[in-house]
Amino acid sequence: MPAPSSSADDPVDILVTARLWPPMMESLHGAFRVHDRLHQTDPAALVAIAPRIRAIAASGESKVPRELIAQLPALEIISVFGVGYDGIDVAAARERGIAVTNTPEVLNDDVADLAMALVLSVARRIPQADRFVREGKWAAGPMPLARKVSGTRLGIVGLGRIGKAIARRAAAFDMQIAYTARSEKVDSGYAYFPSPRALAANVDFLVVITPGGAGTRKLIDADVLRALGKEGYLVNVARGSVVDEAALVEALLSGTIAGAGLDVFESEPNVPAALLGLDNVVVTPHIGSATWQTRRAMKDLAFGNLQAHFSGRPLLSPVPPT
Ligand code: NAP
Repeated sequence: MPAPSSSADDPVDILVTARLWPPMMESLHGAFRVHDRLHQTDPAALVAIAPRIRAIAASGESKVPRELIAQLPALEIISVFGVGYDGIDVAAARERGIAVTNTPEVLNDDVADLAMALVLSVARRIPQADRFVREGKWAAGPMPLARKVSGTRLGIVGLGRIGKAIARRAAAFDMQIAYTARSEKVDSGYAYFPSPRALAANVDFLVVITPGGAGTRKLIDADVLRALGKEGYLVNVARGSVVDEAALVEALLSGTIAGAGLDVFESEPNVPAALLGLDNVVVTPHIGSATWQTRRAMKDLAFGNLQAHFSGRPLLSPVPPT
């Protein structure tokens, strides 16, 4: 792989702002002079090399605020290893003409698969069933009955790339599909509701798959959970910030909703102890795109964007204009 610089002896300096997947780090080390999370581990050292940093390699969970961008006068590109870029101050980057790229599409299947896995897990109580067998409880009698999924009503909050992939899977379970988004998608053929609350009142499972950030903060609040009701389940594969976590804990404790399947949390990797104590909750550690196949595809795209930029080719997947 050619080094993205005019001279192999003088590689481009790149700041890595997250704990990135090791094969991605290997690729970066092969082509750049890598400063791994220096802004966190040694801010003084960053000041010394800041004028040389021309690229940032970030993750979907990275924070790249205006202040960090301002510290890096030679910054040309921020490549995000992930589709969500809510932690990046894109407006601040745009003001300076700094490119921002992400990894859309390649992870749709995995995240949609996980959303369906959480729907099935929380309704059919798969983790509990596994524990039931392992703990030798089967011999004493059958497990309590669970909730049927096929043929029920699914509401999708955010009918974008991943939301549509979830809908396609749910259709194979004969689910009636409805959604909310910022705008109606007439061609989708699914029922549109103008708000998460209106959608929640009309479904059995509410799956959240919007971007994070200011525009969706606590979009799923106590009101939406009340509308979902005591027979309803919440599945969040979007960002922890999209759900009011305190309101969710309260709704689960009080029986306001039936259960929840959660891949993302407000303050990862911290999960509220109250959630972990509940039997009607299934939790996973933000593994939406965490398969070998998809992580390889994400790496190809995230690294490919850096290569494209430094060899003067068009970017593979710049984030769209706001
Ligand atoms: P996308 O194609 O941009 O779709 C986002 C959807 O959310 C769009 O339909 C959009 O509506 C809707 N939306 C945005 N703001 C909204 C609001 N305030 N109210 C209601 N709907 C709103 O994005 P994607 O590729 O599907 O990815 C979605 C998100 O999934 C990512 O940004 C990331 O946060 C999350 N994600 C999580 C994992 C994981 O590991 N759990 C992995 C990958 C991605 P319009 O279409 O009307 O604009």
